[in-house]
Amino acid sequence: MSRTTTVVGPEAAAEVLGVIQAAFGARPPLDPPAPALLETLESVAAALATDGGLLLTENGVALGSLMFRREGDTLVLRRFGVVPEAQGSGVAGDLVRAAEEHAVSLGITGLRVVARVELPASVAFWDHNGFVQAGREGEKLHMVKVFPISLELPTPEAAHMFGERLAALLRAGDLLILTGDLGAGKTTFTKGIGAGLQVRGEVTSPTFIIARVHPSLVGGPALVHADAYRLGSIDEIDDLDLEMTLAEAVTVVEWGAGLAEGLADDRLEIDIVRTLGDLDSVEDTDVRQVVIRPIGKRWLDTRWHTLT
Ligand code: ADP
Ligand code: MG
Repeated sequence: MSRTTTVVGPEAAAEVLGVIQAAFGARPPLDPPAPALLETLESVAAALATDGGLLLTENGVALGSLMFRREGDTLVLRRFGVVPEAQGSGVAGDLVRAAEEHAVSLGITGLRVVARVELPASVAFWDHNGFVQAGREGEKLHMVKVFPISLELPTPEAAHMFGERLAALLRAGDLLILTGDLGAGKTTFTKGIGAGLQVRGEVTSPTFIIARVHPSLVGGPALVHADAYRLGSIDEIDDLDLEMTLAEAVTVVEWGAGLAEGLADDRLEIDIVRTLGDLDSVEDTDVRQVVIRPIGKRWLDTRWHTLT
């Protein structure tokens, strides 16, 4: 069996409409009804002509489809449907992966989708595919997925510069959770954040102090720099009383993975990994690879391209 997923335009309107009618017609009736069943050949062709869509076929038979709508730097997945005969055969997962590939090729920063709260299996599906709930409007649940960003930091200066550039994208209330071995560059990067935010006091490895507040010198957010290295549990991080300052500050927690997530639904999880660099080279190139995982809708419209 050969399964293919293709990016399509208005020429595929009839097949896409067929999938929409089969898929949405088979769902239990909703109140208010999903407008998908009101689609016509004209409306589908018009949507596909504007932003395209995806059609998945197996041996030439259409099994699943969706329509894209571009909104700024994000792509909305609309009329996401799988025909009843093909449900449970991985078609939906294939469509999501193809949508992500297409989005990445367009330089899109994330995907959005609307799920109906009355369809918990559908909500669970998006959840499983890395989408998080970003808001609710009546029975409509807005779910988003912001793609991870990966950068190479060849030198300590690059790590510092990355912090400075990222600081320009941050605002009060933001939480950053840093992971990486001792010496990975977490503090070096945080120094860059401090420089970018223009805060008072030198950002250092908080050896004796667990959390330090650096007030802004320019009327912006303060930097709260915490080191959870010697913290054993979430109870201790609660004792730090970070929540009091969280709303007014940019909070950076080193070694915070598994501890600090509960502090905010929207956060950046940042992993810094030492790579071996060029193995043929005699010198230690000290290259670090950093992966930023944005969690939550806060990061949908962030101008990530300014980091490079
Ligand atoms: P951590 O806080 O993760 O323990 P630090 O930032 O305190 O790490 O220390 C990182 C050390 O590694 C610094 O001495 C820094 O100069 C050095 N270093 C070498 N190459 C890099 C790089 N590409 N990025 C960041 N730090 C680097
Ligand atoms: Mg450190």
